[in-house]
Amino acid sequence: TIGKIFELTVKRYPNKDAIYDVRKNVRYTYKEWNDQVNRLANALVKEGVKKGDRVSTFMFNTEELGTAFFACAKIGAIFNPINFRLTPEEVAFILSDAAPKVVLFEKALESVISAIENRFDSTAFWFIDEETPPYAAGYHDKLAGSSTKEIQADVNENDIYAFIYTSGTTGRPKGVMHSHRNMVDQSMLCIAAQKLDSEDVGLVTAPMFHCAELHCAFLPRIQAGARNVILHQFNPKVILQLIQQEKITKFFAAPTMWNMLLQEDLSQYNTESLKLGLYGAAPMAPSLVHALHDRFGIGLVQAYGMTEMGPAITFLSEKDQLRKAGSAGQAAYNHDIRVVRTREDGPSDPDDVVPVGETGEIIVKGPCMMIGYFNRDEATEKSMYKGWYHSGDIGYLDRDGFLYVNDRVDDMIISGGENIYPREVEDVLHAHEGVLDVAIVGQPDDRWGESVTAFVVKKDPNLTEQDLENYCKNSDSLANYKRPRKYVFCEALPRNASGKIQKFVLRKQLEELFTQG
Ligand code: AMP
Ligand code: MG
Repeated sequence: TIGKIFELTVKRYPNKDAIYDVRKNVRYTYKEWNDQVNRLANALVKEGVKKGDRVSTFMFNTEELGTAFFACAKIGAIFNPINFRLTPEEVAFILSDAAPKVVLFEKALESVISAIENRFDSTAFWFIDEETPPYAAGYHDKLAGSSTKEIQADVNENDIYAFIYTSGTTGRPKGVMHSHRNMVDQSMLCIAAQKLDSEDVGLVTAPMFHCAELHCAFLPRIQAGARNVILHQFNPKVILQLIQQEKITKFFAAPTMWNMLLQEDLSQYNTESLKLGLYGAAPMAPSLVHALHDRFGIGLVQAYGMTEMGPAITFLSEKDQLRKAGSAGQAAYNHDIRVVRTREDGPSDPDDVVPVGETGEIIVKGPCMMIGYFNRDEATEKSMYKGWYHSGDIGYLDRDGFLYVNDRVDDMIISGGENIYPREVEDVLHAHEGVLDVAIVGQPDDRWGESVTAFVVKKDPNLTEQDLENYCKNSDSLANYKRPRKYVFCEALPRNASGKIQKFVLRKQLEELFTQG
């Protein structure tokens, strides 16, 4: 179980530095941190939290989020980290679905909670700050009066450890249920993929409520006994300073974050300690992989996956980065991946496998597969049809078993009867020097069904539509029908907290641009 993982690390490395919360300037050894975890666990029990009860967190990256993660695990409570970017109504939806006993939230997010807390009579809201507002209870007061006595409830490896709500770009978010066992297996995979050990120093840069940071970076580093530096919110300059100051060796960041780091003047910082960068959660253009490799000179590992699978299901290892740039890598240990024909009328059939090199839906089987969606049996049955998780991603496998992820089924553009994967076009435009960021979406078109439109964020302010048009015309990796027919320049692309472009927002923008003429 996750509680056991923590206990064993504390036993092995009691006096080793465990975490450093940068904003609060607090450092704990594993022994000190364990005391804090026990204080919270005991305080939750005192509040009446029992095995199977939910405890939600609503905060940026903080020591308290990590503490809650392990405190819940120890007492068998179900951990429910909520995305700090959500609006009051979105948070209210999750709280009414998960029905937590306690919500831990931080000061910076108080306005969201105060707008909805009166709807949840049977939930206790614990406020993390010196001064507590009238409607909430003080987290620090509760902990100050709480015991550091070791506490481990009778938790089984198959018990549910968390509800993690998916980003839900379409429809209501769903609570992905994972067991302790799922996460121990996921953690082991990620330790191996990043070759983590107790000498490593990790930096938490991406949101901890999202499983890429929490399960692929944070948890495995703690299992390995490494040190963790927790950064409250993403900031490229602060990240580079921290790498230098704390001698960071490995960290995870989403492609868009890596791209922002590359825009900084790297010569100002000493990043010699860095050994490895993990990226994933969204596609990364091969040109960006090359740029990272050249400018940082560190090993890179890619992970591909989804919340429902723990998340990582494939890794592209350090040695394959350049040779197989553009690929998401090979199936993780104990994972089986297939590419199957998609069907209009229901989930694709796991046995309808397409030939090597042909595209279809990516489906997967492995030890970290979710238990299901909370309270959503129909959705669970569909996505886990015949025992395979149906990703909704389109891709193909090459002869060597390397997976290429083209796009979401829903984002594919069909123009004049031809399938166009936005990612192919995005990768080409990303390689243009004047382009900082790009997203391709389909726009309804009377003649072609859909036409290709590019949203572009300029790096070079003088970049014109004509430059990009010429560039695409001269590209030998872009067929004529895939060329964007329209360019929209913008300041930034809408992305969710895990770095994925919100294409539905762009499609809506296009619709509005269109109807306004
Ligand atoms: P989530 O459920 O928020 O974890 O998002 C999962 C989705 O993110 C996947 O289904 C993919 O569409 C996308 N994704 C994750 N990792 C990668 C990657 N390495 N390359 C391309 N897309 C990715
Ligand atoms: Mg998803």
